[in-house]
Amino acid sequence: VATQVAIVGAGPVGLMLAGCLRLGGAEVIVFEQLAEATTESRASTLHARTMEILDSLGLLEAFGSPPREPRGHFGGMPLDLDLPSPSSGQWKVPQTRTEALLHAWASGLGAEIRRGHCLYGLRQSPEGVEAELDGPDAHVLVRCDHLVGCDGEESTVRALLNADFPGQDAERQLLRADVAGIDVPARRFERLERGMAVAARRADGVTRIMVHEFGAPAKPEAPDFDAIAHAWKRVTGEDVSAGKPLWVNAFDDTNRQLAQYRHGRVLFAGDAAHRQMPIGGQALNLGLQDAVNLGWKLAAQVAGTAAVGLLDTYHTERHAVGARVLGNIRAQARLLLGGAESNPMRALLGELIGLEDVRRHLAGMISGLDVRYDVGAVGHPLLGARLPLLRLSLADGPATSARLLRSGRGVLLDLRGPESLACTFALPWADRVLAVEATPAPEDAELTQGAEALLIRPDGHVVWVGRNLDGLREALSRWFGPARAA
Ligand SMILES: Cc1cc2nc3c(=O)[nH]c(=O)nc-3n(C[C@H](O)[C@H](O)[C@H](O)COP(=O)(O)OP(=O)(O)OC[C@H]3O[C@@H](n4cnc5c(N)ncnc54)[C@H](O)[C@@H]3O)c2cc1C
Repeated sequence: VATQVAIVGAGPVGLMLAGCLRLGGAEVIVFEQLAEATTESRASTLHARTMEILDSLGLLEAFGSPPREPRGHFGGMPLDLDLPSPSSGQWKVPQTRTEALLHAWASGLGAEIRRGHCLYGLRQSPEGVEAELDGPDAHVLVRCDHLVGCDGEESTVRALLNADFPGQDAERQLLRADVAGIDVPARRFERLERGMAVAARRADGVTRIMVHEFGAPAKPEAPDFDAIAHAWKRVTGEDVSAGKPLWVNAFDDTNRQLAQYRHGRVLFAGDAAHRQMPIGGQALNLGLQDAVNLGWKLAAQVAGTAAVGLLDTYHTERHAVGARVLGNIRAQARLLLGGAESNPMRALLGELIGLEDVRRHLAGMISGLDVRYDVGAVGHPLLGARLPLLRLSLADGPATSARLLRSGRGVLLDLRGPESLACTFALPWADRVLAVEATPAPEDAELTQGAEALLIRPDGHVVWVGRNLDGLREALSRWFGPARAA
């Protein structure tokens, strides 16, 4: 089997990456060990930045109108997530649904998804990568230009490369069970004398309980329902042992991140690149955003249009973002699972969260809206940041900035009108950059913060803001490769 890009793992991150690669024109095959999609409930939160990205991929309609909660938490302390974005808050979507929708989208774009294929061998040379897999009927040898490990927290790709994965081992864990047939009071990160407890009843009557006994160490073996029911009794005094456990697991505070997200022609994204406690629903969102950052860069690399060094910015940008998220998760794990010794820290943070600047800072971090990449230019607040959603008037009618990104190309947005010549200037990049003249709706005008023209990457981040054409050629070449000869 030969392909330009092979992805190992059809979890949410592998599927998102497959779709983004197809948008960029790359040939891609995803290999997944499971014969059928998992039915485990896992992550259920999509944050504001992910929702904005889904909009720019044209996927928001397929997701429908999921329940939205304006409030999240930081280490179990209530945190209002309201920020200036139509997507702010957290959106409740079961991971199984996210995966099903991404699967349909990626395969609709032409990604091939082969189930029942388990990777066990990997070699790379300057010319390419060879991967060996156990297929449903036979061994399969895959030759590709690049391979991406999206194979989750126990990544085989990471193990085969013996990749450096520094960090901390688990110290504490949270036990979790989805239980039918119990009736216990709702609890939201409730701290009791002996531990912390959460109980939330779903519309279908099933209650998710989570419990941690202060001081109890993480255990390597998976818990059974008996152990969870006993811990629940010790912490809350309630007896849930007669309930029917539908799903039982534990997650711990292991915190590790690959030292390098790129190893030659092999790259990593999602849980394969970083392992963290899924506090505040950040794990899945972080991984999906890795995929969106990598997709267009890797597509340009295999198409031969990428500028030198473009693919390396994947590691630089996403490792830094990952380190910051893993840091906030460690802080939250301490606040959430710490015993009485964490009370003074919680009291102090409780006061600080009451300050609007602090609340916005934390909400920006948890939602992913504050991600800002070093794009080598400074001087305008939008540089490196994601472009906020703009409602625009174009020559052929209204459009949003998210809709302009749906082609998978970058966007040169000229807000000054025809005399600026920015669009004409970008013509040699027309296959990679959509250049449009537009006027923002008056109520959105201040979101552009005085910018007269903006160059936006396919992942929605602003890399050039201009008044005149200074620096535009350099920015186009740096992010989109050489100009096409006339
Ligand atoms: C039990 C559990 C509960 C969780 N709960 C939450 C939560 O409440 N909130 C939250 O935000 N996050 C939660 N997470 C984390 C969240 O599910 C992950 O962050 C997310 O699934 C990461 O997506 P991924 O695509 O990187 O990896 P995964 O979803 O793990 O997908 C990796 C895929 O690779 C496949 N694979 C692995 N090895 C091979 C191989 N050798 N060959 C071929 N295929 C392979 C796997 O079968 C899998 O389908 C939970 C995770 C787990 C495991």
